[in-house]
Amino acid sequence: MTYQRLTQSASCGCGQSKFEVDGVPIGRFICHCTICQSLYKAPYADVVMLWDGAITLPEDQPFTFRKYRPPPALRRATCDACGAPVIGFLRLAPFVRLAFSVATNFSDQSLLPQSSVHIFYHSRVQDVDDSLPKISGYWPSEIAVTKLLFSHPH
Ligand SMILES: [Zn+2]
Ligand SMILES: [Zn+2]
Repeated sequence: MTYQRLTQSASCGCGQSKFEVDGVPIGRFICHCTICQSLYKAPYADVVMLWDGAITLPEDQPFTFRKYRPPPALRRATCDACGAPVIGFLRLAPFVRLAFSVATNFSDQSLLPQSSVHIFYHSRVQDVDDSLPKISGYWPSEIAVTKLLFSHPH
């Protein structure tokens, strides 16, 4: 399956924290982890994954990066104005650097791939009734995300 190249801007909900996207997404998944639940103030996050080279951050960044878990945790940026997550980066290996942002941050969501899997489903606060696979457990969830990389090589 080949996804459409995304060439668009994205931003947090309040619009203060913007970034540019130019690249083919790797995949999209629904994350039920407790960090996403608390940062997004929602039962889960609907996340689009790209190569980090697809992302251009502005020079003047009204957002702050933090790590919420020891390595290999995501570096997540939250907006200084609204507190919502803007973008996250993960270095899996020297040449495997990924970027993550929620679907609603993208200016044209019609071009995004469909979500293909639920991860960290063991920490869900709400059951989801759909036909997608539901992965429980830390490593099985990480592996499910890694599999997206191999199904959409770039
Ligand atoms: Zn999560
Ligand atoms: Zn904001």
